[in-house]
Amino acid sequence: MKKIHFLGECMVELRAGDASTMHQSFAGDVYNSAVYLKRVFPEVATSIVTAVGQDNLSDKMVATFEQESIDTRYVFRHESKVAGLYLVETDETGERSFTYWRSDAAARKVVDFLNSDVLAELATGDMFFFSGISLAVIEEDARSLFWEKLELLKNAGIKLVFDPNYRARLWRSEEQAKEQFERALHVSDIALPGVEDLTELYGVDSAQGVIDFCRPFGLQELVIKNGPGSVVTFESETLLTHKITPVTNVVDTTSAGDAFNGVYLGARLTGQAVSGSVQLAAKAAGIVIQHPGAICPVAAFDAVKS
Ligand code: AMP
Repeated sequence: MKKIHFLGECMVELRAGDASTMHQSFAGDVYNSAVYLKRVFPEVATSIVTAVGQDNLSDKMVATFEQESIDTRYVFRHESKVAGLYLVETDETGERSFTYWRSDAAARKVVDFLNSDVLAELATGDMFFFSGISLAVIEEDARSLFWEKLELLKNAGIKLVFDPNYRARLWRSEEQAKEQFERALHVSDIALPGVEDLTELYGVDSAQGVIDFCRPFGLQELVIKNGPGSVVTFESETLLTHKITPVTNVVDTTSAGDAFNGVYLGARLTGQAVSGSVQLAAKAAGIVIQHPGAICPVAAFDAVKS
């Protein structure tokens, strides 16, 4: 059985309902990817590597992971911290805004839990995914330890997969984000950047620009997302452009890239070629953006498989 581990943070999501209620769910880039991967490829063992608290919402979060058949053996329980939280609000023009309470979240401590026994188990996997958000969330003084642990996984032959997923507000400075991203690209085997991720930091605004930027890092596989624009891949010295059918009824693009990543990696893990994997991933993302929120209903998402 193929195995993939997703390291990062899942948060409590609050979304305004009517005047006096809030709808509560769970979301976070690596969690979203794990959910969508598992829904399409139940045969791939999929786990989340994170830390939560001992509070009731953390319990519900773990129960939600289990409902989605995500392996929770690497969901560690911090003794005093709690899960991070964010509020999504939509104004009268449909513009969304986000407020976060995550600066002291349990997930920031995840590296503390990656002891040698845990690493030995993670080293039996096939892929290990982390994102720019995962990196930003890890406490600054734990990052060098994180890179050491990642190096151990790489030396054990695990494919390291990185999506920059740049969120300016999570970083102390652009320089800090760039330094961490370049380190990530250097160590990774597969990268799944969106063109937009690199625009603000590096002034890159096209798929070709991303290829030129990434080439010196020697990635085995590069998959470049560009909203409704073509996906461009570079693998085994082969450059391919994959047309995307634009969705006309876009409701909410939250987690389009996450759904794409999860399904793409699931397809690759189960032996599909790059082109077929991109087509399936784009189909999945195209469904997700026709529904509000990060996680779309199971029944709607089932169309990916048809
Ligand atoms: P993004 O993170 O915005 O680059 O989007 C990730 C993926 O979601 C893209 O590579 C597409 O497969 C899909 N996607 C995003 N926006 C659209 C759209 N308007 N129509 C169809 N697919 C889209």
